[in-house]
Amino acid sequence: MELRKDPITRSWVITGDDPAEGGPRPEVVCPFCPDSPASAQVITTMPNTGGAPWSARAVVHPKPLYHIEGDPGRRGDGLYDRMSSVGAHEVLVENPRHDRHLWNAGDDEIGHFLRLAAERILDLKRDPRIKYVSLFKDYGAHAGQEFSHPTSQMTATMFVPRRVLYELRAGREYFVSKERCVFCDILQQEERQALRVIETRGDYVALCPYAPRVPYEAWILPSNHEASFERTGLARPGLRVNLAALLRRTLQRVRAFTEEFHLVLHTSPNSLHPSKTLGYWKTIDDDYHWHIEILPVLGSKARSYTFKEVYYSPISSETGVKRLREAKIDG
Ligand SMILES: [Zn+2]
Ligand SMILES: [Zn+2]
Ligand SMILES: [Zn+2]
Repeated sequence: MELRKDPITRSWVITGDDPAEGGPRPEVVCPFCPDSPASAQVITTMPNTGGAPWSARAVVHPKPLYHIEGDPGRRGDGLYDRMSSVGAHEVLVENPRHDRHLWNAGDDEIGHFLRLAAERILDLKRDPRIKYVSLFKDYGAHAGQEFSHPTSQMTATMFVPRRVLYELRAGREYFVSKERCVFCDILQQEERQALRVIETRGDYVALCPYAPRVPYEAWILPSNHEASFERTGLARPGLRVNLAALLRRTLQRVRAFTEEFHLVLHTSPNSLHPSKTLGYWKTIDDDYHWHIEILPVLGSKARSYTFKEVYYSPISSETGVKRLREAKIDG
């Protein structure tokens, strides 16, 4: 596998001929359950207060797309750019129990997972080669779910993924002209208009974005300005409870319409080791604002947004938010 950069859109893709191509191998035994004989290589374990041996843990992805050793060897290939897939690829086991997901686990359990995610991001960012750490979850066959155990995945890369790059550039441009964070301004307007806010929990807000990519798209943001999730996650333990509850409740609402979804955390890039050439690194603490994006996958429309450059959402945010607010959740 190697990384290649599209010279037009400047986005990196990971490509190569995978010998195991042909779909995931069926899981004979879950590699992530605590008593699994096929247990993966453990990176960090979060302690548990209850009966289980741990509450959440990070393990090396059994088939990693990125490898920590080696030199990325970034090089030109005529007009093209390529490099080896150096980085990290981890599986974050959200819960020791095979049936406790982010929507049916306790808030304290989800809080442990969020803390683990924050710790892993901070740790991976200590490596000066790492520019960005992604946390994502794909749930459901159409979403590309890989494991049956409740898990999320984390990749640490030597480049900033395209969508985050767009957000960083847009955030910076907005800040240059208005001296305000665009996400803070969105939050303020949404709270004032109350047209698309799903729910507020402590210092966190769940809302449907004004221009949704898919029906029932939902974002969760801290209402106070904060560029980096990992800083909030570790510095304000009390708030983890609110974020955990809001995440759980929002997923329950989404699941009233579809079980399948993508979830991604967008946090600031590695500003410990800023890039000298990329200007957006300088103002990141002021103009970027971390958030979680949830993109539900609706069966019939599952493919519609994959290849289209203009998203089509047949349910407006204003209708979507009403249905999400009214969806039955367990409390
Ligand atoms: Zn399991
Ligand atoms: Zn902000
Ligand atoms: Zn985002």
